Amino acid sequence: MLVDTKEDYHVHSNYNDHSASDLTVKNAIDRASKIGLKTLAFTEHIRRTSSWMPQYIHEIKTLSQGLKINVITGFEAKILPDGSIDCLENYSRIYMIVASFHTAYPDKKIWTNALMKAIENPDVDIIGHLAPEPTFAISSREVELLASKMVENEKIIEINAKYHRPPSDWIPIFRDKGVKFRLGSDAHSISEIGQFEKISDLISIVEKG
Ligand SMILES: [Zn+2]
Ligand SMILES: [Zn+2]
Repeated sequence: MLVDTKEDYHVHSNYNDHSASDLTVKNAIDRASKIGLKTLAFTEHIRRTSSWMPQYIHEIKTLSQGLKINVITGFEAKILPDGSIDCLENYSRIYMIVASFHTAYPDKKIWTNALMKAIENPDVDIIGHLAPEPTFAISSREVELLASKMVENEKIIEINAKYHRPPSDWIPIFRDKGVKFRLGSDAHSISEIGQFEKISDLISIVEKG
């Protein structure tokens, strides 16, 4: 098994302003435990200017003590045009980081350079919901190079349920190069936690071997 459907590496909470208000850290942990998840990673949207992190970190730590489920404290950080991530190093160094594109970079060169820098960043753990912009295509040769770069830098590719990404034809290339996969629901509400039915086609491509 190359992916584990009992592990969700991308869950939001009501620390942002666009998730369901009842998606508290406690309710998320309760739900994940109830549906039998082994791993729940909180990956709240962070910015360099955010200020809620100490409370978030404390709350996750306190509420996950003594539980069977493995609760991970993390952040989802935006990849900026220069390839840096929108997260202060004192957080990115310590906590799990999912780096994602949240603004469209229609210029293939800017997109590629930013992605390569994010992959080279030792603080980044997972590349989230990756796909090219509609303005350009990535050839299979380019996907191979991307996959090699990810392996070299020990980066994991997320299979994201919210966006149904990465593109299905990238998955065998990633797998054959030895890139590791993790599943992310990208839940913004309680019922979305640990739900991967929407990406069962992508999961079966991973597992086909
Ligand atoms: Zn995202
Ligand atoms: Zn997200």
